[in-house]
Amino acid sequence: MADFADWLAAFRMRADAAGIAEATLAAALDGLEPLPEVVARDRNQTEVNRTLRDYLAIAASDARIAQGRAALSRHADLLARIEAAYAVDSHVLVAIWGLESSYGANPGDVPVIAALATLAHDGRRAALFEAQLIAALRIVQAGDMPAAAMVGSWAGAMGHMQFMPTSYLDRAVDFDGDGRRDIWGEDPTDALASAAAYLAAAGWMPGQPWAVEVRLPEGFDVGQTGHETARPMADWRALGVRGGERLTDPGPASVLLPAGLGGPALLAFGNFAVIRSYNGADAYVIGVGHLADRIAGGGPLQGGWPEDDRALSAAERAELQRRLTAAGFAAGVADGVIGPQSRAALRAFQRAAGMPPDGHPGPAALARLRQG
Ligand code: CA
Repeated sequence: MADFADWLAAFRMRADAAGIAEATLAAALDGLEPLPEVVARDRNQTEVNRTLRDYLAIAASDARIAQGRAALSRHADLLARIEAAYAVDSHVLVAIWGLESSYGANPGDVPVIAALATLAHDGRRAALFEAQLIAALRIVQAGDMPAAAMVGSWAGAMGHMQFMPTSYLDRAVDFDGDGRRDIWGEDPTDALASAAAYLAAAGWMPGQPWAVEVRLPEGFDVGQTGHETARPMADWRALGVRGGERLTDPGPASVLLPAGLGGPALLAFGNFAVIRSYNGADAYVIGVGHLADRIAGGGPLQGGWPEDDRALSAAERAELQRRLTAAGFAAGVADGVIGPQSRAALRAFQRAAGMPPDGHPGPAALARLRQG
């Protein structure tokens, strides 16, 4: 891998070609040093060892629910104006705020230019982070924020709502009309409105739920669960799915078993995918949606949690993928990230092995694969 100084010199020419002015490059990049701790954080990111149950206990803790209700009432006027402008449900907006930065308390203080340069140089996802770095330089060039004051998470997510630089360029708005799109300052006005603009552009359907918890009938074919299968509510009712009866015309829905059979069952609607555009992990979407429901006065999930479930380690998830592929069920690259292909392979294996095909990458599936 190129030395950081050499990489930076070459990047500077690419940024120049992309239209970043010399003065901006000098202000943002002169004397820039890589941040080793950023690389360490990036390497550890795939190690997410939490069941959905444990994740929700943190994401929708009593404290976070109470703080969300307080934020909702403290910013009631602002949230009403944002909802009028963008037609995005305030509870969901506040829940994203709560998960992204603990309602503005923890937006991150890592210098974003240095973090993005480190990740663009490090190589694991170089092209993605170089594009984000160019976008960050455009923000500096536009005068929205000086380079030195642009702080955020180790991965370059900034402000109350943890916007990546490209999302900022595409969607950030100056809602308070002071001439700057300020998502970093203590006042959350622009940040909240920017996130609402983002969700509206992603297709948020006002007044529709993200998901509702449902009960599945005895003998329900769990092969029908997952995002791949979307059906009208009437079809799910005909199959015996119960819950959400008071919803009017929520559009096609998918039945999800996010903790596998034995855990809660959700009927997920179009807004589930809209929240997923903010962060691609199902657990995140369920965290946001459930926190929003709790802030709005809803209760905890009613479904139990499967006994003996635990989160597989990254090494175990990679082993699961390797063993699936070796058994004739192509699970893709054994990288420990269980995506749609791995899940489909797992379902096919479960079906062949006479297990309920819920696609849940838990200890039971791994144990069965180890038996051969
Ligand atoms: Ca502003």
